[in-house]
Amino acid sequence: MNVDYHVHALGHRGGQYTKELLLPYINRARGQGVQEIGFSDHDEYLEGINEESIASLRTRYTDIQIKLGLEVSYRPGREEEIKAAISRLPFDYLIGSIHDLDLWMFDHPDYRSGYSSWDIAELYRKYYSVLERLALCGLFDIVGHLDVIKVFGYRPEGDLLPFAEPALQAISSAGLVVEVNTAGLRKPCAEIYPAKELLARCFELNIPVTLGSDAHLQNDVGRDLAYARELLFQTGYRSLMTFSQRRRCSSLL
Ligand code: ZN
Ligand code: FE
Ligand code: FE
Ligand code: ZN
Repeated sequence: MNVDYHVHALGHRGGQYTKELLLPYINRARGQGVQEIGFSDHDEYLEGINEESIASLRTRYTDIQIKLGLEVSYRPGREEEIKAAISRLPFDYLIGSIHDLDLWMFDHPDYRSGYSSWDIAELYRKYYSVLERLALCGLFDIVGHLDVIKVFGYRPEGDLLPFAEPALQAISSAGLVVEVNTAGLRKPCAEIYPAKELLARCFELNIPVTLGSDAHLQNDVGRDLAYARELLFQTGYRSLMTFSQRRRCSSLL
């Protein structure tokens, strides 16, 4: 099963979902052999997402399923605001992602200088403590780009697994799905999210997986998913999760 569950049609450009906007993404996915495409724009663009354009496109194709998701920026204390936002549309799945720590947008190139004021080991502990809270808050189906804190290549010395372990335990006990997100390959860290050793630990902890390109442009839809599936297979995975109306279904990888 080839799915791309992390696609931004609005990107950071805003605007509204229309058939004309979504069609090139869908056609790109079909061309890449993607069997399910899931639109998952950032929750800050929620106003631009409308279900009607998705619904009308769904009836048009028999060779691809079209899902509606949302990538929610998790921040401790945002839970009630998130609850209100996600109740507004019939989402198939919700991706919980961390994009800032105490409002510092650590994954954004404009704020990269912020790394210089951190001890990197301390920063990793902070990031993964927030990820643990994300996992335990019970609002999400999928964990987005699990180790995105490495985006600019800042890594503490030595084994990274101990930093992530408590969050991985929480993800496992909460029954969350982890996405293998290929956007990291296109970023300065030049590595898939999550890294191989973290993915291997996910497998040991029986954490299910799904796939996403994190495309913000139509040409990135389906990008490197063949590599991601191969990596999953090598890690031991034989299935991945798909979602409909927040119910999950296991499919053969
Ligand atoms: Zn984005
Ligand atoms: Fe994200
Ligand atoms: Fe994204
Ligand atoms: Zn993302």
